[in-house]
Amino acid sequence: MNADLDLLKRLEVLSRDLVWTWLEEGPAFWSAFSPEGFAQPPHNPAALLAAMAPEEQLRRAHASMAALLSLETRRAAYLSKMGLDTWHDLVGRPLRGPVAYFSAEFGLHESLPTYSGGLGILAGDHTKSASDLGLPFVGIGLLYRQGYVRQEIDAKGQQQNVYEDFDFATLPISPARALDGGPQLEVLVEMGDETVKCRVFRAVVGRVSLLLLDTDVEGNAPEQRRITQRLYGGDHQTRIRQELVLAIGGLQALCALGIEPQVFHLNEGHSAFLVLERARMALSEGRARDVAEALSLGRRSSVFTTHTPVEAGHDRFDAELLWRHLRPMAEVLGLSRAALLALGHWHDERDAEAPFNMTMLALHACGRYNGVAALHGVVSREMFARFFPGTPVDEVPVRHVTNGVHAPSWQCPELVAMLEHVAPETFRNRPAGDPSWNAVYDLDDAELWHWRTRNKAALFSLIKARETARAARLSRPPPHLELSTDVLTIGFARRFATYKRATLLFSDLPRLEGLLERAPGPIQFLFAGKAHPADHPGQSFIQEVTRLAERFEGRVRFIEGYDIELGRALTRGVDVWLNNPRRPMEASGTSGMKAAMNGVLNLSILDGWWPEGFDGENGWAIGEARVYSTEAEQDAADAASLHHLLEHAVLPTYYTRDALGLPRGWMKMMKRSIATLTPRFSSDRQVQDYVHHIYCPG
Ligand SMILES: *Cc1c(COP(=O)(O)O)cnc(C)c1O
Repeated sequence: MNADLDLLKRLEVLSRDLVWTWLEEGPAFWSAFSPEGFAQPPHNPAALLAAMAPEEQLRRAHASMAALLSLETRRAAYLSKMGLDTWHDLVGRPLRGPVAYFSAEFGLHESLPTYSGGLGILAGDHTKSASDLGLPFVGIGLLYRQGYVRQEIDAKGQQQNVYEDFDFATLPISPARALDGGPQLEVLVEMGDETVKCRVFRAVVGRVSLLLLDTDVEGNAPEQRRITQRLYGGDHQTRIRQELVLAIGGLQALCALGIEPQVFHLNEGHSAFLVLERARMALSEGRARDVAEALSLGRRSSVFTTHTPVEAGHDRFDAELLWRHLRPMAEVLGLSRAALLALGHWHDERDAEAPFNMTMLALHACGRYNGVAALHGVVSREMFARFFPGTPVDEVPVRHVTNGVHAPSWQCPELVAMLEHVAPETFRNRPAGDPSWNAVYDLDDAELWHWRTRNKAALFSLIKARETARAARLSRPPPHLELSTDVLTIGFARRFATYKRATLLFSDLPRLEGLLERAPGPIQFLFAGKAHPADHPGQSFIQEVTRLAERFEGRVRFIEGYDIELGRALTRGVDVWLNNPRRPMEASGTSGMKAAMNGVLNLSILDGWWPEGFDGENGWAIGEARVYSTEAEQDAADAASLHHLLEHAVLPTYYTRDALGLPRGWMKMMKRSIATLTPRFSSDRQVQDYVHHIYCPG
């Protein structure tokens, strides 16, 4: 009996530590445990267990005991390195206390719907690398009852915004408790003359935790319960309340759990109210005499990462709305209305009632700032120069740490196995440029090409499942899927914000049709991505692509419901990853990095991370690294360059085959992409850079 209870508990523990998602033994165990159940998206073991009687769980656990033990052994070995020989230990433990990483979204896995897109995936990958590297680290975010919008494409090709409630009992989280066996932690957040109660949940991510706050709690008024209903879903009032919950509730939760961070990392401005709450605490604990001293105390341990290269994109609140919510806080801090508002303004702001800008608050009260790619650093220094009058633009103290992605989550395990075979002394932890990476060139071409084809087939079967589900929903016959693994396949998946120019490819249709006719072989284009429900131009881009999909019959497809699962399949399964934002609007972009480490060739504008990644032979650069006088001129030049590259570089390289049918030139580029880009654009490198340059500089 006890042994049974113990086994049930072990299953529960394994299902609620997201480390299973990136240890090879994780998917292996869960698919042995429940092949049919685990195959269903969102591949969530916690939900599988919740739907299964204990006897059934025990029966299946016994039947898959070998796989269970391998996962447990591997996980135990992983956890036991903490404090001994993780990267952080080996570099002398520069962090004495934890990094508290605040973010409005965290994208860890498709089974935990607390993300919308790039910002969240970045936070998720940062958290996973913090665990892998052994950093003392805790993430703080919000738990949304309905997550982010789910996208369905209706019969007219329009995005329908679908929301449904998640059952928290089936998510890979648990109640956070201040005492083992005690009640679930609750914290109180004051906003204006209201007090909002928040429950705290914990998601375990290997060696670190993510704390998630939820206001859908008994005792809160209905509109308070809806604060955390949707990610980026509400009006300005909901938004400011979410940000207060994130910052103040997050800090309260850390205090209640006895966590004393050494560094507070604000991932974007959404959590910037944190600096005010910390100042309030410093005053109430007598660590500072006045607000100026309290803020400057906090500045030393606060760091801010900006992701928004256009000023209009920064999070702002109307002065009146802000004052309504922060008046009690201002009073405790001894700040007048004008003084509080000034914290959200440029130093030289003329209009005392101008909207309160969260980025300004972060600049006023953080000690270190960074953008997310070298070019974005330049753009940010120009944008923020006004904040540092008298400082030459290139000396404006905004650095950059180029983003990366968590290789164990994004790189195909079969490729990793092939690489470990040619370079047994684990190439993975070698920095870029290390000669061990040359082993990539020893990969067998035929084997590599078979692997590529298998990944393509896996992608196509996922697309087929989604298209079949859509057809059923629209009462249409199942689609005839004519996707072929022999065809050059180009992927474009990202948020449908207009600056990403999803329709650039089609801006000169006669030219495109001409090149398709002359091409040495066929091409198919796969598009995916959501537009924010309030972004009407973005939504009409989706409709335009779905209309073009009809015109190009099967050569162009739009796949609904872009999420982590589809992102993973696309960045492993296509041949080319197309990225054509209007330079320099893409702060970094990360999906191209996922593609690159899977040998998917980037065909990209020299924006975001790509100027640092492109070396002339590991992909292609669209257009020039220059400034144009009008957007129309820029779009025309970039479209012409894209068409030219497709016709004269991409197509011929792909369709030039040797006697064995292998595109040797293409495969050389694939290998170069893997060898040169995997180490440089991994989130391990990114988090190491944060430790050395941002968390513990000097
Ligand atoms: C990687 C990823 C993103 C980020 O893509 P960008 O290249 O930054 O546009 C967004 N959504 C999903 C689901 C992803 O996997």
